[in-house]
Amino acid sequence: MGKWDVVVVGAGPGGSYAAMTAAKLGLRTVFFERGRKPGEKNSSGCGLGQRWWRDFPEIMEQLTRLPSARKIEMVVINLVDGKNRLRYRCGTTGSDLCARRWPHGMDGISIYRKDLDPFLAELAVRAGAELRTSTLITDVVMEDGVVRGVVTERGEKILCDMVIAADGAMSTMARRAGMRNRWKGGCTLVAQLDFSCNPDKMDDVIGAAEWCWFGPLYGAYQVNFRDGFHIGNGRWLRPDWDMKPTEMISRVLDIPAFQAMCRAVEAKPREYQAHLLPWLERPRKTYTGGMLLVGDAAGFPCPLEAEGIWHACVSGKIAAETASWAISRGDVSESALSEYERRWKSSSLGKEHEFGSEFVGIWNASVFDPGNMEKQIQLLLEFSMLHPFSIVFDWGDAHMDCFNQHLGHFLDIAPQFADFGRKYIAPLARGIWPENVKRILLALKPRIPVFRRLKDEDYFRLLARISKTLAPYLKPGIDQRAPVPREVFEAPRRR
Ligand SMILES: Cc1cc2nc3c(=O)[nH]c(=O)nc-3n(C[C@H](O)[C@H](O)[C@H](O)COP(=O)(O)OP(=O)(O)OC[C@H]3O[C@@H](n4cnc5c(N)ncnc54)[C@H](O)[C@@H]3O)c2cc1C
Repeated sequence: MGKWDVVVVGAGPGGSYAAMTAAKLGLRTVFFERGRKPGEKNSSGCGLGQRWWRDFPEIMEQLTRLPSARKIEMVVINLVDGKNRLRYRCGTTGSDLCARRWPHGMDGISIYRKDLDPFLAELAVRAGAELRTSTLITDVVMEDGVVRGVVTERGEKILCDMVIAADGAMSTMARRAGMRNRWKGGCTLVAQLDFSCNPDKMDDVIGAAEWCWFGPLYGAYQVNFRDGFHIGNGRWLRPDWDMKPTEMISRVLDIPAFQAMCRAVEAKPREYQAHLLPWLERPRKTYTGGMLLVGDAAGFPCPLEAEGIWHACVSGKIAAETASWAISRGDVSESALSEYERRWKSSSLGKEHEFGSEFVGIWNASVFDPGNMEKQIQLLLEFSMLHPFSIVFDWGDAHMDCFNQHLGHFLDIAPQFADFGRKYIAPLARGIWPENVKRILLALKPRIPVFRRLKDEDYFRLLARISKTLAPYLKPGIDQRAPVPREVFEAPRRR
């Protein structure tokens, strides 16, 4: 075949989804994978969350039937103290709202990449894309600053109208096209250890859940599959983090409660791996003349918890649609392809990154800050004692006295975290929907005597004036880019 419309580099989730979309749009598409087959490295395990049911329902339906799939309905959180004692266990099972939000409520699945990646690649092949495995792409073909194709390690030049680079965190394509060199900060090294388990015991002990372990020096996730699980934890690629990835994993292996769980599911270590995972405040440049970056190559993983497979598929879809649009107009210049950024920013993927700097900031000052995390665990434990169940089941004294002792202790230690709250939590307030702010303010109005008699519109007008007057006096640390949205204070419209 001569020149291709689209060349996709990488047959991970992002590459396969891009190739499938491009082929369905009628573009002559080829996609390259360096492995002998997609998913060969089984690199990350993957939890696929509820929004998969919203965005890729047919795919999700079929994934649930693949061999390693485990249905996930909740996340079990384990808090461990500095002496490795399990101190608190809770779970996010969701409310009736979650159950109503999508047709499948809180259900997600976990599935090994050795199942997921070949499945997605097969969808692309069935849509008409050509898959070439065992082919490492080493360079781009550039003409007048525009990418016109790729070069294989055997020196073969493959020419095309557009390249979609889905070649993961280290993206050779992005580097060879001069888009970036390193991530400069923003990238984590994630170590993970995979265990095989007795599937029946997994059903009994783990059920439909992912697990997490949080302790003074780590936050580790445990992704559970039908017949195995893996634990992993990450660290920044920064000189001030000198702990080896294996040491990070060892910390979790040392927790007696973790060991007990391993015995219960008959876990046997199977494979150790370490991978890079971009964890950025915001994706860097995602397009250049003739080429678009998707998935990890673009730095798309979620800035709050680094989920990245949904992001890879969504960006793959948008990239292929943009490529089709650009090719049909006969303009694949860098300025034309800025359309890609416009499209992903206005999609649910872009929404995910609106709070990137706040989310990354929280991790920097908590789980990824070994000094702070020990203190924060203490605060969380004390906070957990104010939970209604803790009040019922604390028999140390008369129940109201127990409650007051815990409240007092919480108030003793909380001021240490005032800076953290001001710097990292308060800025999130700009994400509260104006209608919710409005509802809170309306609920407060009857309780504040000076406001009680005001009409709603005068009340909002007054609050707007107060907020404007106070704004210049807000201390740095409260995000100045985030004034209370104007519509909150707009007086309700008269009919
Ligand atoms: C340990 C770990 C656990 C994770 N857990 C989860 C999770 O539970 N849920 C979730 O949603 N996300 C998870 N992630 C993130 C997720 O794995 C990534 O965001 C996702 O894989 C990105 O998909 P991608 O297609 O962009 O890149 P990749 O999955 O990295 O795929 C890139 C593909 O390109 C191929 N390739 C690379 N370079 C070349 C080249 N030069 N020539 C030819 N082929 C090439 C690779 O072999 C690979 O198949 C995890 C990540 C890690 C590291």
